[in-house]
Amino acid sequence: MRRYKIFLLFLFIIVSISSYFLLNNKYKISKKGILKYDRAEVYIQAGHEGRTRGATGTSSSFGNEIDWTPIVANEATRILREVGITVIRSEADRRKYSVVDLALSIHFDGCTKQCGTGASIGYDDETDEPAAKDWKEFYSNYFKFKWQDDNFTPNLRNYYNFKYTITRDAELVLELGDLTCPAQAKWMKNNLKNIGHMVAYFAAKRIGKEHLLKKPHMA
Ligand SMILES: [Zn+2]
Repeated sequence: MRRYKIFLLFLFIIVSISSYFLLNNKYKISKKGILKYDRAEVYIQAGHEGRTRGATGTSSSFGNEIDWTPIVANEATRILREVGITVIRSEADRRKYSVVDLALSIHFDGCTKQCGTGASIGYDDETDEPAAKDWKEFYSNYFKFKWQDDNFTPNLRNYYNFKYTITRDAELVLELGDLTCPAQAKWMKNNLKNIGHMVAYFAAKRIGKEHLLKKPHMA
């Protein structure tokens, strides 16, 4: 009996030590590649969220980008999780590797010239193009304003966070519209949660699970 208890104790210690190393080994990069990462179907980042200095986003009398991006990201995350789709919900500076099917970073644009810009998409290579095209087609059903070309600024192509997302389908920066343009800003402000629904539906569609979600209604 005593030997049995010692064996159990020994087993407990071994299991504790190995799980400590296994769990602790999630975010590490070695010569062999990334050893530590989080895994989910979808990654959703709210642009600028959590920052108090540096790039804190654009603003206008209609609102602040840093306040709007979490509303969209949270609603999209809520809808996806509700139907059992796994989501990594990230703020601006997470600095952890994520292995996902699709990664979306939510932003709003601004321009010193009145209504000088619109919606746009950023990505870092041509494997992302089919998803980018798909988003443009889909979001155009709701967003009836102008679009800029894909990657029209260097920041879109060289987005700082792309290095943290390893994707099967695509990693996209979604600039959802010009927050400094009154017509666009009013529409977006009134539809932030709807836009979250659009993002969720699009993400579900890209992973073949759109049948689980209601289609967003026309806003
Ligand atoms: Zn931004």
